[in-house]
Amino acid sequence: MATIGLTLEERLEKMLTALKKNNPQADLDLVRLAFDYAEKAHKGQMRKSGEPYIVHPLAVAQRLADMNMETNIIVAALLHDVPEDAGVPISEIEKHFGSDVASMVAGITKLGKLKYRGVERYIENLRKMFVAMAEDARVILIKFSDRIHNLQTLGPLQPKKQYRIALESLEIFAPIANRLGMHEIKGLLEDYAFKYVYPKEYKRVKKMVQERVKIKEEYFSRLAEKTRHTLAEAKIEPLEIDWRRKHYYSLYRKMLRKDNDMDKVYDIVAMRIMVREIPDCYAVLGIIHNVWKPLKGRIKDYIAQPKPNGYQSLHTTVFCDEGQIVEFQIRTKTMHEEAEYGIAAHWHYDEHGSKIPNKQLRWIQELAKVQQEMMKKVRDIEYLKIDYFKNRIFIFTPKGDVIDLPEDATPVDFAYAIHTTIGNTCIGAKVNDHLVSLDTPLKNGDMVEIMTDKNRKGPSTDWLKFIKTTHARSQVRSHTRNTIKDWLKSVIPH
Ligand code: MN
Repeated sequence: MATIGLTLEERLEKMLTALKKNNPQADLDLVRLAFDYAEKAHKGQMRKSGEPYIVHPLAVAQRLADMNMETNIIVAALLHDVPEDAGVPISEIEKHFGSDVASMVAGITKLGKLKYRGVERYIENLRKMFVAMAEDARVILIKFSDRIHNLQTLGPLQPKKQYRIALESLEIFAPIANRLGMHEIKGLLEDYAFKYVYPKEYKRVKKMVQERVKIKEEYFSRLAEKTRHTLAEAKIEPLEIDWRRKHYYSLYRKMLRKDNDMDKVYDIVAMRIMVREIPDCYAVLGIIHNVWKPLKGRIKDYIAQPKPNGYQSLHTTVFCDEGQIVEFQIRTKTMHEEAEYGIAAHWHYDEHGSKIPNKQLRWIQELAKVQQEMMKKVRDIEYLKIDYFKNRIFIFTPKGDVIDLPEDATPVDFAYAIHTTIGNTCIGAKVNDHLVSLDTPLKNGDMVEIMTDKNRKGPSTDWLKFIKTTHARSQVRSHTRNTIKDWLKSVIPH
């Protein structure tokens, strides 16, 4: 990460520079104010990495500034964890930063931390997410940037948590980004998650790509030069000629379709030509085909026939110099921004927080479809999860903390797993908001609330008949033994 080694002040300046570059009118004082406000609110809080918490919202803001987003989104990004993690009410944020920022921050806070609390709760959370998105699509942009930074900083977390967050990003977040046409975001979510969900495959793909790209780097800069020259002769001056490496995860997916043979994947690195107008795209295509022979069946006109997600470009794969096969992607700047940022591309220039542009209403319908797909998907992942963690179940506290227990554990096992005192004073339990008896076997993903009574003298020896964990068993034994000893002491004179 490019920000490592920078001081907080330098990171802030870097973000402000990015914001100003794309948006010379931006109210930088307001952004600084939001930074100071968030820094103060998070004072004393640390990331798992040991860094001060504020590096997180700042990194989230940086990504959005790089994406050319308007000031209010940046301000909301800086403040996005203030209500949930620092307990500042939304009304305070509204007082200082106005209702537009406050409503975005409220939207993100409503999404919560999407803690995993079993499939039903998860689906409920996901529904909330779609509602928040439909209300204001900017919220999901902040959420995605938030998730990308969390994935980048998964390192210090426990493996089980790393896996869960990464799997969720890969199976839920990335497909949403994809359907919204945010390909850059989708690529990042997938690549950071890939490493934790399929570590072996990730290493293999990364190594193969690095070997190949190293050889090709010099080749591609020569090819870019030659392309520029050829286009100049035809009096076409492109805005940009660049080449980019395919994201690891999409490469991995593609390899699976191509018999695991990377030599059959022609677009590990693709040339990208950006021009001003649509006719220029076709002119460039003609010129390229005039110089290099195209591969049969590999010319794709996504301008005349956009992909279902709205993606537009011309693609062609040609036999290039020195026996190389290279894919060219030709597009206008508008197409490029839409390809990278999807619906988000429409907001940049709007300083006044117009939420969903009218012509994007189609997107809401799209969203409804994605939602249906996701709900199905969650159920599929749930099977995967149960399989993966056989014989152990996850039980959730009402606050969303996870307690890991053996199969068929009971509310009493759960109570002792939280704290001995809670176990000792336990008088009843609710599972998923329903009262149950204390010997009820718990199921993976249950949310359990323990009711206690301070005046309860201690555990009941009857519990030993159904308790599953050795921890709870030994606690009950030692406590009942104490009580009997105490009782004996009281009745037997010294
Ligand atoms: Mn966050």
